[in-house]
Amino acid sequence: MKVVFLGPPGVGKGTQASRFSKNHQIPHIATGDLLRTAITNKTEVGLKASSFIEAGHLVPDNVIIQLMNERLDSPDAEEGYVLDGFPRTIAQGKALDKLLEEKGSGLDRVIYFSLDELTLKERIVGRRSCPSCHSVYHTTFKKPDLEGVCSCGAALVQRKDDSAETVTKRLAVYRDETAPLIDYYKNQGVLLTEIKADGSLDDVAELLEGVIQDNS
Ligand code: AMP
Repeated sequence: MKVVFLGPPGVGKGTQASRFSKNHQIPHIATGDLLRTAITNKTEVGLKASSFIEAGHLVPDNVIIQLMNERLDSPDAEEGYVLDGFPRTIAQGKALDKLLEEKGSGLDRVIYFSLDELTLKERIVGRRSCPSCHSVYHTTFKKPDLEGVCSCGAALVQRKDDSAETVTKRLAVYRDETAPLIDYYKNQGVLLTEIKADGSLDDVAELLEGVIQDNS
């Protein structure tokens, strides 16, 4: 199964994608995680990407498309995957279509997670992330057992781009650059389902599984 999880920052795509990947035994491929790992490892991609990420801008399409062409060519991605945070622009959507076409396959479906902006901001600003295993917590809604510490033992951090100032910018970028992908997929006749992500993690996960079962 090849699925795209689309939606604004803070909507919970990453958390749902992580669960979904375990349930369906397909890799969870998150461009944000790939980029943060590249930054930590000071690779060429990491060096190119860091200033864009910190400012709340998108990393240029050519950098992302090359990164994803390589990632999607890995053997573990042959049978399927859940894409989280890619595509984020129409150009990326077209690049993904081309890649799939070359491999003689296509997307099975797109899930669009929606939520109002006030709740998104509240979720993002309280988010704490594990730089080691990429687990995500929240200061109110998903506290770690030990304050400030991930279950893997690493100290939790607030991502620089999760600060209140940068979040407003990221939401504007989402509206301008990423939201048009909803119509892009609808117009292509790709099966796209909207899930309102205002429930608990479990509620949203249940809705998601229901949608997948209904249409499989
Ligand atoms: P995320 O972890 O998905 O919220 O991504 C964090 C940041 O990484 C974004 O705000 C962008 O700066 C960058 N990023 C992640 N995915 C992409 C993408 N597909 N295209 C461009 N920039 C991206």
